[in-house]
Amino acid sequence: MPGLVNAHTHAAMTLLRGVADDLRLDVWLMGYMMPTEHEFVNPAFCKLGTTLACAEMIRSGITMFADMYYFEADVAEAAAKVGMRGVLGQSVLKFPTPDADSFDESLAYTRKYIETWKGHALVVPAIAPHAPYTCTDEILQACADLAIEYDVPLLIHLAETRLEVEDSRTEFGMPVVPRVKKLNVLDAKTLAAHCVHVDSGEIRTLFNHHTGVAHCPTSNLKLASGIAPVKEMLDRELNVGIGTDGPASNNDLDMFEEVRLAAILAKGATLDPVVLPAKQALTMATRLGAQAMYQGHLTGSLEVGKRADVIVVDRNTLHNTPSFERDFDAVYSQVVYAAKSTDVRHVMVNGAWLMRDRDLLTIDEQATMSEARVIAKKIDQFLIAREGNVLNKLIAIGGVAQTESFEIQVKARLEDVTTIDPLLKDRRVEIVKHSHYRQYDLYFMFVDEAQGRVRYREDDTLDQDGGVESVRTRITYTSPTKEREFDDAVLLSRSEFIAAADRPQRFYREYFRPNSEREIEKDRNRWHILYKGVLFYVNVDTINVPKIDGLFLEIKSQTWSKRDAEYKATLISEILVDILGLTPEKRVRKEYLEFALA
Ligand SMILES: [Zn+2]
Repeated sequence: MPGLVNAHTHAAMTLLRGVADDLRLDVWLMGYMMPTEHEFVNPAFCKLGTTLACAEMIRSGITMFADMYYFEADVAEAAAKVGMRGVLGQSVLKFPTPDADSFDESLAYTRKYIETWKGHALVVPAIAPHAPYTCTDEILQACADLAIEYDVPLLIHLAETRLEVEDSRTEFGMPVVPRVKKLNVLDAKTLAAHCVHVDSGEIRTLFNHHTGVAHCPTSNLKLASGIAPVKEMLDRELNVGIGTDGPASNNDLDMFEEVRLAAILAKGATLDPVVLPAKQALTMATRLGAQAMYQGHLTGSLEVGKRADVIVVDRNTLHNTPSFERDFDAVYSQVVYAAKSTDVRHVMVNGAWLMRDRDLLTIDEQATMSEARVIAKKIDQFLIAREGNVLNKLIAIGGVAQTESFEIQVKARLEDVTTIDPLLKDRRVEIVKHSHYRQYDLYFMFVDEAQGRVRYREDDTLDQDGGVESVRTRITYTSPTKEREFDDAVLLSRSEFIAAADRPQRFYREYFRPNSEREIEKDRNRWHILYKGVLFYVNVDTINVPKIDGLFLEIKSQTWSKRDAEYKATLISEILVDILGLTPEKRVRKEYLEFALA
């Protein structure tokens, strides 16, 4: 039969197979895949990972695959060396990637890669803007321009999750398919992976632009993205191929499993057992896949004039026995519902044998496996070290300023808000600013206190009528080290690594996996004051959750040296004792912290 076509994968990610599973897409991708890739992915990694993937794919009867990854020139080299056919897309993203610090750099790399590989007998170079949510408008448009200029395929992840579509509506006022259409992405020879959350209008748009689709049922189910409307896309005569997706989200590259799942999932999803019969499923995995990858003129079926991409499947195995002749289509049922990848005996690509009698002829399988184990050990050590350090985990997901500051602070209880009037009216005090906000804090805490703690904070600035004026979210890491305690319970603390919290609270919870959480909601009046030329923050808090009677006063100032800290400690004592007539007690501070953090 014709070789199977894997319409979407990330071959080199075999080396990350099983590194982090059973997580939500954002935690999996941003929390684990990207930081690990950043550390390990280089040309050698891509060559080895691709070779390992090719070995597995050949054994599963795959003769052509569509790939999206980094250092794609090395992926191409590995695939060509093995003798597999591929449409191999160089990834482009809006963040720095393992192979490029900027989008310009990555575009320059892609241009060179395409020029080097265009016209090769097996490798079709392509450009792969990762997804609409990881690319700016400018990047998507530039990628489309480049694909059109060189007449090469453009590979992209499209409408994979509902969240992606909702975010696109919020940010761009339209779902993802109209957005990429507007940016000319569909004018290229585009192959869109997933297309799980597309409506009938968008399916029509994809058809009108001859966009190929890669259906990835295992990945969509494993990451709980949903079920693509495959029946409707096929009814609309879209070229829908089947893809395994990367081995980090599947976790294998077994096309027999994938075809079987595609056929039965479509039935389950539509409650209709005649939907997507075996023959049609196998067409998706061969001819339609090749067409979706714009290689239908070369491969995907056994026809005169096409390349010899052929596999031989053994039907004389226990699970394929017996066979029936009455229904001509029974052979398709046998291949799709009963056969396994281990039944593949011989594989030929472009007229050359890659596997004979289950012997891989172009890959040293044992050597490849042992090299993969060596890298896996290093990745394991890297993640073990990182998982044991909350700060490193925070830094790994980016955005955090790696500078630390110290602050000098004191806390006291207030009976009444007028208690601070003497301070605000003191002629040595200049009030720079007053603000009023509602503050939600969610603390993530760990059994090992040496890990410090992570705080997710949302500040809702309130206007005079108590309406929300603006919202700001931040994530803060506080180390547990208490630097020095002065008299009067004035505390110098090593503070905080702060980053904008650009992901939902849930992301951080699932990523940090705290042992416990604590929620605090307070109403805060804050004055920025200058006392003897030094800037202090004076906070008066009413704590609503958990409900605590009374008011809490906090006075603090940033500090950068021990000497400075000592001076500011003296000033804070003056404010507290001389001006406000309060007696700070250790107990008070502790009490606050216990309420807050116990
Ligand atoms: Zn993918």
